[in-house]
Amino acid sequence: MSGAGDGGVRAGVDIGGTGIRMVVLEDRREIAAVTLPTSSFERFERQHRSLALAHSLRALVPSDKTLLSVGIGASGPVDTVAGVIENPCTLPTFSDMPLVAELSAHLLVPVRIDNDAVTAALGEFHLGAGRASRRMLAVTLGTGVGVALLIDGQPLRTADGAHPEGGHIPVGHTDTPCYCGLSGCWETLASRTWLQAALAGLLPDIAYEQHDLDFYRDLCQRDSRIAQLFERYGYQVGRGLGSLMSLYGPDLTVLSGSAAQLFPLYEDAVQVSLRRSKGFELSTRIVVSALGDGAGAIGAALLS
Ligand SMILES: [Zn+2]
Repeated sequence: MSGAGDGGVRAGVDIGGTGIRMVVLEDRREIAAVTLPTSSFERFERQHRSLALAHSLRALVPSDKTLLSVGIGASGPVDTVAGVIENPCTLPTFSDMPLVAELSAHLLVPVRIDNDAVTAALGEFHLGAGRASRRMLAVTLGTGVGVALLIDGQPLRTADGAHPEGGHIPVGHTDTPCYCGLSGCWETLASRTWLQAALAGLLPDIAYEQHDLDFYRDLCQRDSRIAQLFERYGYQVGRGLGSLMSLYGPDLTVLSGSAAQLFPLYEDAVQVSLRRSKGFELSTRIVVSALGDGAGAIGAALLS
């Protein structure tokens, strides 16, 4: 019988609106990884996309290793029982198809699926920044905002077994409708998408994703408009965190997603927004992901 200790490996796939990250773990150690644009699968007919994904996974597994299982993390609502992504708004490429069943049939291994916020949280809990936490709040600031709470490593579920869509708690006063049906959702104000668009308004010639923390820190020091923009973003991130921390009472909050890399630029604003009166203080210990963009795929591999 093949096992993870004798050549067996587990694959994880993180399917986002922009990119698909795939990893292969052997004994919880990453031995191969690749990221493909989600749009690269759009050239295939819908009924052939799971096969294309299976081919990409097969190509990533070393020839002397046995694939034991596949885990998938996907953005937005996921039916974990039916194995179907239900996110036609931001992930139409792989939504509303029997992805788990098809992938399992192509690869002949068990396949499990969960929301990408849950898989990223599991990655951080087992192998990253959340290893000491008993009650970990994980927030992904990416294309949207994903939220997961792990209690002793187990994800909190809604009554129907789904993942709580914490990015869609209303925090704003805007009447601008969100695709979820509510308006003023936290996601519309705290996602990297908001930050990127706001930065583009001030810096139309600078591509957000091509620059790092040091670049933006330098800009903040030279241009007060940029510093104020990050401060505003921090308050907006804090609006949702305050609600979630009040409700869940986590001992640790782990931020991930591409906007988390810039956390030092808006950390003070977040903490100011979370400050409460004596007797009502929150545990506001916030750290940035240790696994970075790889957390979702690594956690997905650990699903199985
Ligand atoms: Zn919403």
